[in-house]
Amino acid sequence: MIGKMQAALKVEAAPGVTIDLVDIPRIGPCDVLIEVKAASICGTDVHIYEWDAWARSRVEVPRIFGHEFAGLVVEVGHDVTSLVPGDFVTAETHITCGECYQCRTGQGHICRNVKIVGVDRDGAFAQYIALPASVAWKTGKEIEQNVASIQEPFGNAVHAVYAGEITHKTVVISGCGPIGLWAVGLCRISGSSTIFALEPNHKRLDLAHAMGADYTLDPREVDPVEHILEVTEGLGVDVVLEMSGNPGAIRQGFQALRNGGRVSLLGLPATSVELDLANAIIFKGATVSGISGRRLFDTWYRTRRILQQGQLDLKLVITHTLPFERLQEALEIMKSGDCGKIVLTF
Ligand code: ZN
Repeated sequence: MIGKMQAALKVEAAPGVTIDLVDIPRIGPCDVLIEVKAASICGTDVHIYEWDAWARSRVEVPRIFGHEFAGLVVEVGHDVTSLVPGDFVTAETHITCGECYQCRTGQGHICRNVKIVGVDRDGAFAQYIALPASVAWKTGKEIEQNVASIQEPFGNAVHAVYAGEITHKTVVISGCGPIGLWAVGLCRISGSSTIFALEPNHKRLDLAHAMGADYTLDPREVDPVEHILEVTEGLGVDVVLEMSGNPGAIRQGFQALRNGGRVSLLGLPATSVELDLANAIIFKGATVSGISGRRLFDTWYRTRRILQQGQLDLKLVITHTLPFERLQEALEIMKSGDCGKIVLTF
């Protein structure tokens, strides 16, 4: 398709965002062109908007950012057989090389040469996006556009929750942004016995309660470790899902963990974190796993089945829906932290 489209760009290596007319991307033989119908905002987009140290070190300009979206296939490359125009899709945003050790041994989610949509190549805050057909994820049209758009970050929660046993387990979810909130819901529908949600923002704590948390704790008001130990009769919890990236919360998570428990770390700390390894991990015999992206494509199949099952209302976490033109305002709301998921409509 030849023509112009509206897109949100990082034009200069500086804070901010510009909405401008740019060329509609051209597709190669293995690509598809997708008309974006909804796009949601991730913390990564805020890093790029603010142009922090990570963004400066990683993102080249000009770059269209945004990577969580849903839309309609409008054009397919010559060699594409899996999709046709009219298909409703979202996408896995980690484009893997297919050739490295990890890709060739079933660990593509930690590909050494990964290219991330909206970070290393143009993204989804635009009317159209071109992507390899191999990462497009066909979605039933009965799934609302808003919900279709959030499958990618929801997949992070799915990956973290099911990285180990969760049924009948006591769980701490530390940090209740959208991924933490979905993790609460997943633990609930999976039969976790007691769910503790830790989060300083009270709107998010209310959402955690709505998603099924048994205890919603503001770590500034109560000592969460003391509280968790009291409820678990001194044992500590079986599982900690760390979604905050906050160094103090990470240490508290390990303190609240029982001997032999599991910690899945997803939240990204901005700097190195000091931890008493001997007591936090070694003597506890703790199992610690890093959670990066989604397992390809196991997590996506699981996500599809969870959505089909209909037990979990993902939409509870969407607090704002705004037209694409109000992206900057949406990014400012994200910065304030006073929100769940924000979805842009086109
Ligand atoms: Zn690879």
